[in-house]
Amino acid sequence: MGFSKVLHIAGLGVSGSYLLRRLSQSGFDVSGYEPKRPGFYVPCGYAVNLNRLRDLLGNVGMNADDYLEIKAGSVTFASDTGISIKLPSSGFCTIDKNRLEYDILRDLKYERKVAPYLPNGNDVMIDATGVSRYYLGPAKGDLLMRTREYLTNTAPKGDFYFRYFPSGRGYYWEFPLKNGFHIGAGGDTIEIVSDALKDVRDPLRVMSRNIRLSPLFDQATKGNIIGVGEAIGTVSPITGEGIVPSMESAEILFQNISRYDDLDDLKERYTSDIKKKFQRYVKLFSLLKNARSGNLKKLGNLSAISSAKEDFENFGIQLEIMRVLKQIAFT
Ligand SMILES: Cc1cc2nc3c(=O)[nH]c(=O)nc-3n(C[C@H](O)[C@H](O)[C@H](O)COP(=O)(O)OP(=O)(O)OC[C@H]3O[C@@H](n4cnc5c(N)ncnc54)[C@H](O)[C@@H]3O)c2cc1C
Repeated sequence: MGFSKVLHIAGLGVSGSYLLRRLSQSGFDVSGYEPKRPGFYVPCGYAVNLNRLRDLLGNVGMNADDYLEIKAGSVTFASDTGISIKLPSSGFCTIDKNRLEYDILRDLKYERKVAPYLPNGNDVMIDATGVSRYYLGPAKGDLLMRTREYLTNTAPKGDFYFRYFPSGRGYYWEFPLKNGFHIGAGGDTIEIVSDALKDVRDPLRVMSRNIRLSPLFDQATKGNIIGVGEAIGTVSPITGEGIVPSMESAEILFQNISRYDDLDDLKERYTSDIKKKFQRYVKLFSLLKNARSGNLKKLGNLSAISSAKEDFENFGIQLEIMRVLKQIAFT
C-alpha cells in the first residue's frame, strides 16, 4: 500500500530536497520546485549533530561525514552578565550545508521556479517553503525572530559559542568553519541584532532572514497541502536548531506516505506523529514565552527543563542544562 496521488514539493531546502530524494528513490510520482539560483548562499549557522545527520543521510545513500567542516570539542554558553559554561559536545559540528543541499538534488528532476499555485483533484502539494509557508499561508500564534549572520575570516571567541540575551530575547552565536566563521544574532528587533553584532569587522558576506520560533503542528495541513520543516515550525525555540529536525519531519512524512493511500488518513497520522516527535518544542516555546513575559516561576516551566535537556542533547551538546537555563539563558 502507499500513496497513489501525484506529489508536488514546493521548496527544496534541506527538508524538501531530502523528501524529493527519498520519494524519488522509492518510485513515487513526485515533482519539485525551487526558484533560488544554484550556489545561493543560504543564511544558516550550519551547525548539526553529526550522529543524527548520519542516520538521515544513510536513508538516501549519502554520507554525512563527506560534509563535515569542524567538529566541536565543547561549546561555550554565556550570558550578557558575564557568566559562562563550557559543555562537552557529543556530535556537535558544522557542515557544508550548501554543498549538501546541492548534492541531495543531484540527478533528480525538478524545476527552477516557484511551484504552480494550488493543484487540485489528484494532486497533493507539500509545502517545504520554510519561513514563508507560501502554500499553507499565515498561521495563528506564529512567532518569527529577526536574524542576521556574517561569514568572516576571524571571530572574537574563535570557537563554538552561544551568548543568550536577557529574558529570552534572543542570542548571539559563533560557529567555526574550515575557512572562516559564521557569526550571527537573532532577536526580537533589528536593534538588538545590530547591537550584538557591532564588533564584527569586514564580513565576507552578510545574510539576513527570519527564523520561526513557534511550533505550528496544529496548522501543518490544509486541504490538499501538507507542510514539512520550518513551514510547520520544526525549529528549536531555544537553540534555533532546524536542519536535522526539518529533515526528520520529512522522514516522518515519507513514512506516512509509504503507509497510507487516503489523504485524510495520511494527514491525521502525519500530524499525530509530528506532535509526538516534536512535543518538546511545544513545551520550550511556552517556556520561552514565559521567560519573555517574566513568568519563569510558573510551575509548568519545570516540565520544560527535561525538554531542554533532550533538546540540547539532540543538537549534540551534553547535559548540565538545568545549570545553563538557571544561570544563563533566562536570567
Ligand atoms: C541565521 C540562521 C541561522 C541558523 N542556524 C542554524 C544552525 O546552525 N543549525 C540548524 O540546525 N539550524 C539553523 N537554522 C535553522 C535552519 O536553517 C532551518 O530551520 C532549516 O534550514 C529549515 O529547512 P527547510 O527545508 O524547512 O526550509 P528552508 O531551508 O528555508 O527552505 C525553504 C525553501 O523554499 C524555497 N521557496 C520559498 N517559496 C517557494 C515557492 N513558492 N515555491 C518553491 N520554493 C519556494 C526557498 O527558496 C527555500 O529554498 C538557522 C536559521 C537562520 C535564519
